[in-house]
Amino acid sequence: MTQSATATSGAGITVIGPGATLGVLGSGQLGRMFTIAARRLGYRVHTFSPDEDTPTGQVADVEVTASYDDLDRLRAFAREVQVVTFEFENVPAIAVEAISGLVPVRPSGSALYIAQQRGREKAFLSEHGFPTVPFARVDGIAALRDAVAHIGTPAVVKTAAFGYDGKGQHKLTSATVFEQVWEAVGRREVVVEKFINLQAEISVIAARGLDGSVAEYVPFENRHSRHILDVTTAPAQVLPALASRAREIARAILDKLQYVGVLCVEFFVSTENELFVNELAPRPHNSGHLTVDAAVTSQFEQQVRAITGLPLGSTELLRPAAMANILGDLWVDGEPNWAAACAFPDVKLHLYGKSEARPGRKMGHLTAMGKTVHEAQDRVIAARDALLS
Ligand code: ADP
Ligand code: MG
Repeated sequence: MTQSATATSGAGITVIGPGATLGVLGSGQLGRMFTIAARRLGYRVHTFSPDEDTPTGQVADVEVTASYDDLDRLRAFAREVQVVTFEFENVPAIAVEAISGLVPVRPSGSALYIAQQRGREKAFLSEHGFPTVPFARVDGIAALRDAVAHIGTPAVVKTAAFGYDGKGQHKLTSATVFEQVWEAVGRREVVVEKFINLQAEISVIAARGLDGSVAEYVPFENRHSRHILDVTTAPAQVLPALASRAREIARAILDKLQYVGVLCVEFFVSTENELFVNELAPRPHNSGHLTVDAAVTSQFEQQVRAITGLPLGSTELLRPAAMANILGDLWVDGEPNWAAACAFPDVKLHLYGKSEARPGRKMGHLTAMGKTVHEAQDRVIAARDALLS
């Protein structure tokens, strides 16, 4: 048997087998955990990003440092790998086009194109009948005024492109001065949404394989702090019928996109138990980090399986679990007390290899397991508090 086997499975699918080389665009912690999963399965990994000594590069076989606009370097990168995936979705469309003819790109450029821009994403969702909060795409101040008059206040304005962790968002009330908001968002395309009274935010992480099979985890529940994910608990404590509905919607979205890879669907659950799709992330997601320790197959292994044509793994959750992010803020008094957190039973520490701790920067996370979701959550928060002891 030679390494780098490329075999055709029974379903007529060409499997990119262990020993092959996988390419990742982007080099943060998602790429790092993808790479660890890929290497455990016997793959090699090359990463491409503008940075050096990155979370992904530290564990990959090859780290290419070049701009996403450097199409020659991108093509050279693509020729060295058997399939390309993303850990960072804001890669310019031109970069994806440049490599699409050379190597399979999974998920495809068209799925990325939709998920990259909030306006297009919301339009896709509502055109296909997926529930979204009332919204409007707006590209001028008069249109903004009309949209708010139609949707009502309070409302939220979000920049259409390149927003994350609440960056580029503004809440509108009846007292809002539209000129100020339009300036604040940089006078560019925005999405205006009705503000929802939230009971919970949940996410469904799902994968679709090359053969069209779909596997999703149970919904996870997410709490944010300053617009950044703070704690995820699994399974989400929502009505069973609502959890089933969220899973069905996620499956239908992946099918509609003919998606290959892992996708996260973020939902709002209103205080009236309505379910709305908030946004899509075309990659593994922060809320799925607990699958590394608490599920049969992690979201990162699932991404490897999906993009190489291997069968998807079981998404079964082994125990109730909770994840707490470790942000750079925890370095206020110097290096956190890692030993104190590791002393907790059923708590696992993950660090991303970032040398510079800045406020708001995701440096790592903790996962805890327990007999109940509450126990797991209490443990993970106590372990994180202990970092400052
Ligand atoms: P990002 O791309 O920054 O994650 P989101 O659209 O997910 O942007 O918004 C970030 C957070 O802001 C959400 O997780 C939610 O807590 C809050 N939020 C956003 N839109 C609304 C809304 N329409 N109603 C209520 N809360 C919202
Ligand atoms: Mg979000």
